[in-house]
Amino acid sequence: MKLILLGAPGAGKGTVAKQLTQLDGSIQISTGDILRGAVQAGNELGKQAKGYMDRGDLVPDTLIMGIMEKRLQEPDCQKGFLLDGFPRTIPQAEALNVLLNKLGLKLDMAVNIDVPRNVILDRLTTRRTCSNPKCQAIYNVKSMPPKKEGICDKCGSPVVQREDEIEAAISHRLDTYNQKTAPLIGFYEKEGLLLTVSATSSEAVIEAIRKYSPPNP
Ligand code: ADP
Repeated sequence: MKLILLGAPGAGKGTVAKQLTQLDGSIQISTGDILRGAVQAGNELGKQAKGYMDRGDLVPDTLIMGIMEKRLQEPDCQKGFLLDGFPRTIPQAEALNVLLNKLGLKLDMAVNIDVPRNVILDRLTTRRTCSNPKCQAIYNVKSMPPKKEGICDKCGSPVVQREDEIEAAISHRLDTYNQKTAPLIGFYEKEGLLLTVSATSSEAVIEAIRKYSPPNP
């Protein structure tokens, strides 16, 4: 499968992507994870991205396209990929089309995970993330706390609240989503690739993806 996951922050793109990788061996590519890894590592990419991320702003398209151009050419992409958090703007989607053309690849679908705003807000304020850049496991203080408070079950590192998940940054991220990313829904509808799923459970989203066969062009 080669697909794009669309949806507001907190819609469950990451969770759905992780479960889908187990179905067919495609890999998850999360630009957010890559960027957080770079910030923790303190490398040049991380230094350039950090300010934007902390404020809940999007990182410039040129930086993101540089990451994706390299990433999509790694050998592990051959079995398929699930793009989580990318593209985020119309220029990124257009640049992705050019890049895929160049690489001789074709997308199967763009899945729009549609979740009500109150559910999203609740999820984001209660979300906690493992601080180890190689792990980044996700927990929820209400529905899925780590076994030992504040400590990651998988790697033992501290589990923290992301800087961009304090309340002010969250509402800014949601506004940014509505302005810059939501227009991608229309973009992929025009391309004949859109599947919208209104569901709050990842199982329901995966079931809808499995059943979907794209309309003939
Ligand atoms: P979310 O939980 O909001 O889906 P991500 O983990 O995907 O968050 O991204 C976190 C932050 O990283 C974003 O708020 C943004 O600053 C930056 N980022 C991630 N992906 C992109 C992208 N494709 N374009 C621009 N900025 C991005």
